[in-house]
Amino acid sequence: MNLLDKLVVWTIPIVPKFLVRKVASRYIAGTTLDEAVEVIKYLREQGCCATLDVLGEHIDKREQAEHAVQEYLQILDKIDQENLDCNISIKLTMLGLKLDLDFCLENTRRLVQRAKELGNFVRIDMEDSSCTTDTLQIYSRLKKDFDNVGFVIQAYMRRSLQDVRDQMKSNSKINVRVCKGIYIEPRDIAYKDKEIVNSNYSMLLQELLENGNYAGIATHDEKLVWAAYKTISDLRLSRDKFEFQMLLGVDEQLRRLTLKEGYKLRVYVPYGKQWYEYSIRRLKENPKIAGYVIKNFFGLKN
Ligand SMILES: Cc1cc2nc3c(=O)[nH]c(=O)nc-3n(C[C@H](O)[C@H](O)[C@H](O)COP(=O)(O)OP(=O)(O)OC[C@H]3O[C@@H](n4cnc5c(N)ncnc54)[C@H](O)[C@@H]3O)c2cc1C
Repeated sequence: MNLLDKLVVWTIPIVPKFLVRKVASRYIAGTTLDEAVEVIKYLREQGCCATLDVLGEHIDKREQAEHAVQEYLQILDKIDQENLDCNISIKLTMLGLKLDLDFCLENTRRLVQRAKELGNFVRIDMEDSSCTTDTLQIYSRLKKDFDNVGFVIQAYMRRSLQDVRDQMKSNSKINVRVCKGIYIEPRDIAYKDKEIVNSNYSMLLQELLENGNYAGIATHDEKLVWAAYKTISDLRLSRDKFEFQMLLGVDEQLRRLTLKEGYKLRVYVPYGKQWYEYSIRRLKENPKIAGYVIKNFFGLKN
């Protein structure tokens, strides 16, 4: 961590909550499901679909996992009732991954099962490297019974290409979101060089798409978006084989440009009461985000 990053980490706790809220409100759809639904309807008017994420992770009591399951079940019903073009993104640590793998598997199964009944889809987000193996194991076990579940692969992880190949070998067609990865990981397991991460991103995407799998192309890096356009064109892919994905509040111009090309675009919409803890944790984990946010706040280009 460089000196500026360290400074960001030290000063975050003393920034007044109202100021954090002002900055965070661009990236977070509110504290209630109703507020999030309004954001999803607004995004729909712009031509975007969405994926809903309830803020919160790393619970340490089983009751908290049960609470999270109930909240997501309620979301699935709401999406169905309101006929929203929206699926859900979940974090397994919120469903008990660090407590007991089988307990987490059963909690996740309940969500995937309900989503299946409603014709919906569950995306399992990828968390830090201590969760990678267990997350992929839970995904594999669910994939045997369901086709409406997908996982996320991080291009900065050295293991990712092998993970994708293993999943392609043991499962029928897979649905994978490709992202760079947001956690700070040690060099022995993660690429640190931006160019290598970008090349690995494109390689993962190529591997998935040329083998007939579905890809969520999650990035705001225009170089990667352009490289994805090229891969799509080289492979003569039909538009039902992939979608672009971006975070709420980030580079809305790139979002509009991607929509203008006629591509499907899904916006990741986080909401929940834990917005403050979530924002602070994210900023501490990756102080570079603070730099993006500050530049956006003052209308500067990164
Ligand atoms: C839909 C979606 C789902 C994701 N799911 C996961 C996941 O499950 N696991 C995981 O580890 N990571 C996830 N990520 C985060 C991802 O790994 C990256 O950390 C993040 O997207 C930034 O990488 P980038 O590809 O946009 O490229 P970067 O080079 O980091 O960013 C390109 C430009 O985008 C802008 N930008 C990017 N991020 C932000 C931000 N947060 N705030 C303001 N501006 C920003 C900046 O202008 C920056 O210059 C997800 C990202 C998206 C879009």
